[in-house]
Amino acid sequence: MVDVQAYLDAQREKDLDKLFEFLRIPSVSALSQHKRDMLRAAEWLVRELEELGMQNVRKIDAGGHPIVYAERIEDPALPTALIYGHYDVQPVDPEALWTTPPFEPNIRNGRIYARGASDDKGQVFMHMRALKAHLATRGRLPLNVRLVIEGEEEVGSESLARYVESAPELKADVVVISDTSMPAIDAPAICYSLRGIAVLEMTVRGAASDLHSGLFGGAVPNPLHELARLVASLHDDAGRVNVPGFYDDVLPLTAEERAMLARLPFDEEEYKASLGLKELYGEAGYTTIERIGARPTLELNGMWGGFQGEGSKTVIPAEAHAKITCRLVPDQDPEKIADLVASALAERAHPSVTVDVRRGHGGAPWICSPDDPAIQAGMRALEQAFAASPLLMRMGGSIPVVGNLDRVLRAPIVLMGFALPTDQVHAPDENFSLQAFDKGSLALALYWDELARALA
Ligand SMILES: [Zn+2]
Repeated sequence: MVDVQAYLDAQREKDLDKLFEFLRIPSVSALSQHKRDMLRAAEWLVRELEELGMQNVRKIDAGGHPIVYAERIEDPALPTALIYGHYDVQPVDPEALWTTPPFEPNIRNGRIYARGASDDKGQVFMHMRALKAHLATRGRLPLNVRLVIEGEEEVGSESLARYVESAPELKADVVVISDTSMPAIDAPAICYSLRGIAVLEMTVRGAASDLHSGLFGGAVPNPLHELARLVASLHDDAGRVNVPGFYDDVLPLTAEERAMLARLPFDEEEYKASLGLKELYGEAGYTTIERIGARPTLELNGMWGGFQGEGSKTVIPAEAHAKITCRLVPDQDPEKIADLVASALAERAHPSVTVDVRRGHGGAPWICSPDDPAIQAGMRALEQAFAASPLLMRMGGSIPVVGNLDRVLRAPIVLMGFALPTDQVHAPDENFSLQAFDKGSLALALYWDELARALA
């Protein structure tokens, strides 16, 4: 530990200069005007990865922005870790709201300000620092490492999804991703579960065309009324989703896990105030942290139909629409849930209308046992680097690539991220704490030793 820590400390200024070089490249994947910058960022990575001692470094063309691949196979008998990250960033507008220009990195109040500083170029660079610390001080890594850094995370990871399906070189015993956050600088964390998603759009149809409410009202169905009634039927008064079978495959929280989640730092009053809410709303019998991370939901995202212009119009609309998404938890299946919701709606609909449910994209939920040796090794590395007790948490959102990697590699995935809630990710003045940069780099360097021991 002493050697890599001393090396990281000694290299810090030089490394910050290097990171600033990387951050100056405006690698905005969503905008075609930055196509060349995407290539520059990928080439920058290739150069740096070669220089720090990685092997077989190359750009991979999988249709979109290049994927950067690198590996260092010390000994085929050793376990192999796969590091995933992304070099693309979100667009910067509204640019006027940035205190300093988004691609002119600078340090203020102990933070690095730049687009990508936190999400995810800063964290990709920390992995490179950690690998370099091992190679420069010991000439080798304690295990085999592969690196995959994509350029389309912010636009859907399409190329990566294709590449993962057909890339034998990706075989690994564990996947490590630093693209999540921790609750506070003195509360490092590993995320061990993400929610999945099922997407639906429903259309309720009545008469063949809009009708005059005076000439027909009272004798025909009103699709808006039916839509409202059906949508209201999807929850009960306790905030539970009222769809038969919806909870059948939900892994129940154990008493031990509930106790662990209850230890996460969370102030409900502060939370309510920050949201401008007098009261929270959710499934009875669960805490806010459990509702977000460990329980499934069904949310109405939009409802429309009928006349919405100025004044009034006495019309009975022919159609009404709603958009619905369900956030799913292990072991719910997106397709099965979409089917259950669609059948419940069809069964409940009045015979005078038709209900048509279209399914959108789905994503499976993901969980890795917090007891997995790869996660426990991460907890030990975090504890040493941050001199604080690390936490285990679930996240309510989804990271699609985690689902892809999980399905194809069937290996534990360790989400060890170092962003802070104050990082302004995706927003003006994105920043990354220097403390997180220093302690996180050390944690990653220590992790390789801990992981090699745990998997030996
Ligand atoms: Zn990210």
